[in-house]
Amino acid sequence: MSLPPITIPPLEETLNRFQLFDYIDGERVRPSLEMAGWVSNPNTAEAIARQMATSPEQVERALATAQRVHEAGAWARLPADERAERLEAAADALMPLTPLIAAVESYHTGMVISLTNFVNAIVWLAFKGAAGVLRSGRTRLSASGPLSEVEILRKPLGPAVAIVPWNSPAALAAHKVANALAAGAPVILKPSEWAPYSCLFLVEGLERAGLPQGTFQIVNGGAAVGQQLVADRRVRAVSFTGGLQGGRAVAAACAHDFKSMQLELGGNNGMIVLEDADIAKTAEGITAGLTTLNGQWCRALGRLLVHESIADELLAATLDRLGKVRLGDSLAPESEMGPLANEEHRRRIAAAVKGLTAVGGQIHAPTPLPDLPGYFFPPTLIAGVAPEETLEEIFGPVATLHTFRDEAEAVRLANQTAYGLGGYVFSQDEERAMRVARQMNTGGVKINGVSLLELNVDAPRPAWGLSGFGQEGTLETFDVFCGVSVVGVAGR
Ligand code: NAD
Repeated sequence: MSLPPITIPPLEETLNRFQLFDYIDGERVRPSLEMAGWVSNPNTAEAIARQMATSPEQVERALATAQRVHEAGAWARLPADERAERLEAAADALMPLTPLIAAVESYHTGMVISLTNFVNAIVWLAFKGAAGVLRSGRTRLSASGPLSEVEILRKPLGPAVAIVPWNSPAALAAHKVANALAAGAPVILKPSEWAPYSCLFLVEGLERAGLPQGTFQIVNGGAAVGQQLVADRRVRAVSFTGGLQGGRAVAAACAHDFKSMQLELGGNNGMIVLEDADIAKTAEGITAGLTTLNGQWCRALGRLLVHESIADELLAATLDRLGKVRLGDSLAPESEMGPLANEEHRRRIAAAVKGLTAVGGQIHAPTPLPDLPGYFFPPTLIAGVAPEETLEEIFGPVATLHTFRDEAEAVRLANQTAYGLGGYVFSQDEERAMRVARQMNTGGVKINGVSLLELNVDAPRPAWGLSGFGQEGTLETFDVFCGVSVVGVAGR
């Protein structure tokens, strides 16, 4: 697949986009509460702006607006094709903004521009995809049978909330918002306090689409604002992407009134390398697993599980490749990897590495650091730690290396953590790799490759165990926001 050339907008234009606003009932308003932290440029560690939160009164206004829009039904009652048309108009308005969204995101998350340019195509594609679900007739299916012919209707459950983290905020937000709107639900988005700016572009796209006022809204802040939203009884559906602690709090709040809920949480993803794997290709896969999204990726490599007979050779080849990783400024097109997102996160990753060395870990981190004052952290492999010590997610460019003797031990190690999001198998024998992959208890397993690209965009993206609740996907996310009604004439 060939990627489009990277366009980087002038820095001035990018910097002008750092004006935070709430978008409530069709109005842009400044959030009024100062938070403790700062959003910074992770390449230089310079502060960009103080983190700000929407006041509880303004959050309440957004909730009341969403309820009003839902009760009035002006958006939900539009025929599905007409809703689809509006979402397609939003996609058309968002497409040319992709380079700007990418630059803003690279500037304050540290994700490299070559990747944010590519990932943020999802922003407009999400609206096209959600329109496609509507055009496929999913809101009104029919089923015939020996008794009654029935209509299977999908209708909006009510006001929806979308909460996203900082690692790829605009694309994650667009997927949730587009599907909530397609379902006919008014939706309130809460971006991460660490990276709120790129999500604001959705306002530009959706204003052009001419939705009824208040159908799409944004509030800002951290966990407190998120809790006010998800605990509110008017909210009927929640889609959350974030960490385990936040996920548990959201699930507890949703349980009270049985809200529809989709949780996309973390992973500690295993890669099984069988003894017949192609060494160079596997070293490339390990490198991608450690460096994609700077290792801050829910499907990043967590535990590298290698057949004991090739462990030394694979480690040498991987360290050779890691030594050539271009770690640098996230806005430089040649950078393969950028800095970690913020200082607090870098401290957390450094502490996790220190903890692993305290239990016998030997550190391998040959990537040269750039001469920049930002939050740079080299991709790091740690050998020599007992597998029982490496069960938690680190959410950074750090993986542990363990060896196995046979397939059964490899599968046992891969299934040893409480997570179940992604997994990888490397082997030149694809049938054997498939056999091993089928035994891994995760939402998905990729064979002989590591990348952000889905194996199949129409397949679901499920989560097992502590990695989440429910499934993501083209139809699956749409369904989170829908109630289903089966209607028919008795006895016909
Ligand atoms: P986080 O849980 O700290 O925050 C995520 C979002 O939730 C933010 O907007 C935050 O303000 C909000 N939030 C936090 N606590 C909350 C609460 N109690 N109630 C409501 N909202 C709350 O996560 P993060 O540090 O921003 O992101 C890193 C985590 O996200 C990692 O664990 C990573 O694996 C996960 N993640 C998962 C996926 C996926 O698709 N499964 C994708 C990206 C990131």
